[in-house]
Amino acid sequence: MVFFVGAGPGAPDLITVRGAELLRKADVVIYAGSLVNPALLGLCRAGCRIYNSAEMTLEQVTEVMRAAEIESLATVRLHTGDPSIYGAIREQMDRLKQLDIPFTVVPGVSSFSGAAAALETEYTLPGVSQTVILTRMAGRTPVPERESITSLAAHGASMVIFLSAGMLEALQDALLAGAYQETTPAALVYKATWPEQRLVRMPLGQLAEAGRVYGISKTALVLVGDFLGDRYERSRLYDPAFTTGYREGRP
Ligand code: SAH
Repeated sequence: MVFFVGAGPGAPDLITVRGAELLRKADVVIYAGSLVNPALLGLCRAGCRIYNSAEMTLEQVTEVMRAAEIESLATVRLHTGDPSIYGAIREQMDRLKQLDIPFTVVPGVSSFSGAAAALETEYTLPGVSQTVILTRMAGRTPVPERESITSLAAHGASMVIFLSAGMLEALQDALLAGAYQETTPAALVYKATWPEQRLVRMPLGQLAEAGRVYGISKTALVLVGDFLGDRYERSRLYDPAFTTGYREGRP
């Protein structure tokens, strides 16, 4: 059996209880070595076979899973954040289906949640934005043309850009070509929830410069949108005058 487990954004105690339990029991662990906090491997029992997938191909990963299954071993495939976001798990699951190897997926706390927590902010502010766009710049990995940063930025919604900290100049230009202004608040969040976490807030017009000044070019998220600003409306749900299914409103 294979368990795809979200490791969380970095801090080892941000893995789920279920994920930690599976790691403790695992016979084989294949972890995404570039971003999973190695401290989590401390949960593994002595004798657990540990592989770093950063040095492996999909074929090699699948082969380790297949060999483990023949021995009836439990394999944990440990992905950073939540495995459903840039985790490349679909191709692994499809191969496991072809091989008739059972699996389940255990979600994790994504880095975009870790980043919002670190910044003490909320993506979905009433009167500001009710939409969060998670995306990336095209790099060596292409992005469909209809999802270009500029076209997504046309909404002026809350936006989180993964995998793009090495392209801040181009990212800033693409965002400005959409609905955002030079003055729209933005943030660079480096290694959210890790001990070396860094939070840099700036107006969008200074994003690339901030990256240079603070030396941030990888393992970071770019957040942009007016949710990082000061203005919003209070929520209806907790407004004394608003009636909900659980509470009678009083004018
Ligand atoms: N599945 C992961 C994302 C993997 S893609 C998740 O849910 O978070 C890898 C990219 O995620 C990195 O290039 C970076 O943009 C972002 N990332 C992952 N962990 C991060 C962290 N702790 N802080 C900031 N960005 C992070």
